[in-house]
Amino acid sequence: MTPPPSPAVEGAAATASAGHGGRRRHVLLFPLPYQGHINPMFRLAGVLHARGCAVTVFHTRFNGPDAARHPEYRFVPVPDGMSGAPSVAIDSVVKHILALNDACEAAFRERLAAVLAEYSRDAVTCLVADAHLLRMVEVARRLAVPTLVLRTGSAACFAGFVAYPLLCDKGYLPVQESSELDRPVRELPPYRVRDLMHMGSDGHELVCELLARAVAAVKLSSGLILNTFDALEAPELAKLRRDLAVPVFDIGPLHKFSPAAGGSLLRENRSCLEWLDVQAPESVLYVSFGSLACMGGRELDETAWGIAGSGVPFLWVVRPGLVCGRAPDEPARLPEGFEAATRGRGVVVEWAPQEEVLRHRAVGGFWTHNGWNSTAESVCEGVPMLCRPHFGDQMGNARYVEHVWKVGFEVGDGGELERGTVEAAIRRLMTGSDGAEMRTRARELKMAAAECTGNAGSSELAIVRMVTHILSL
Ligand code: UDP
Repeated sequence: MTPPPSPAVEGAAATASAGHGGRRRHVLLFPLPYQGHINPMFRLAGVLHARGCAVTVFHTRFNGPDAARHPEYRFVPVPDGMSGAPSVAIDSVVKHILALNDACEAAFRERLAAVLAEYSRDAVTCLVADAHLLRMVEVARRLAVPTLVLRTGSAACFAGFVAYPLLCDKGYLPVQESSELDRPVRELPPYRVRDLMHMGSDGHELVCELLARAVAAVKLSSGLILNTFDALEAPELAKLRRDLAVPVFDIGPLHKFSPAAGGSLLRENRSCLEWLDVQAPESVLYVSFGSLACMGGRELDETAWGIAGSGVPFLWVVRPGLVCGRAPDEPARLPEGFEAATRGRGVVVEWAPQEEVLRHRAVGGFWTHNGWNSTAESVCEGVPMLCRPHFGDQMGNARYVEHVWKVGFEVGDGGELERGTVEAAIRRLMTGSDGAEMRTRARELKMAAAECTGNAGSSELAIVRMVTHILSL
């Protein structure tokens, strides 16, 4: 359920149907069809809908939403003409994103024109597209539809996108030698080269293209929406506002305004919540590596035996396709003897209701891959993190967790994982004295997040500004 808007926000909502013959204004949305992008876009849909906007969601066939879960929205499929799902390897995902843009462009133009003809042009306020959908932004602009961009990562990460050409000019990228990975990026502290989005010299051009398109999408648009909040990234937001000529709306954490947005691609196993109900407060380690990150068979085994050896109660999401190179729907097999060794102390599920899990009083730590949604969800529930970033923006997020917010630390330092390292890291987080300090700081961030999302908090005011801006377009 989306909480009702506070009085400050209702003022803006009142104008959603005013001045247009009492008709509701339509906002058009187009998420990138990956879990970490679908969730924040549906949460944004919830925010806009609760404030009086009618919502139309354009979507690809690939990872298409279940329209039955959202009778309040209209869904418009856009044929993507692409066969099958990409492998979870990061270069395949990047290629897939670039190819999806081209594959959908013509069909989107036709669908958008039909929707504009149906709704009447002035009833449509704008298109909010994912930052990785430049082609859709261009199509909308050509049809005179204003656009806003939702970037689903942190402000710091987007500042990295903006600075990328400069960082390449300065020789930070592409990385030629592994010894360069620890070089500090003076232009973007506290990042080191290893914390930037990169894929080695082979994938360098692809990453440049991906990030340049995201920045171009924002520059073509009338605003950038970020799922972050002032108390978490004030300097990074100030920098973006200086560097970009468009308004920046930091309206996060979106799951606090519009929780459980129903965009889950996998079936959530809710029975783990009952198991959590009978665990001691803050005793359980929640382990999940998100929807895309994968690991080798050996790493899976070391992870399993490290969890078993730590003696700490755990809830572990082992999603199908978690082992690299396997089909996305192939169940990952845990080592023989793991179940017997941990019986009564842990639960393994294929997908969890993560927001509720992190909110549960029994959860005391989160071993995460540091996707931005997972990181933000953990921060906002006051749960400290064990970080094991895999690719993309995850390394940069882990860097902030450890060195800026000091609410967690990295395990394995990007190298091979050993069970002994895992055991020690889990104990440090869950029962060590510095783990306790991280938990205290995480609680402080939780309170700061609550202030931002509370009545007249910075995120709530940013929502008012965003809705007013959208309705003025
Ligand atoms: N998630 C979930 N259940 C799980 C694991 C993840 O609901 O068992 C959700 C999580 O709450 C988050 C999203 O999936 O909103 C993952 O996004 P994130 O940016 O953390 O990582 P990605 O999957 O994009 O790598």
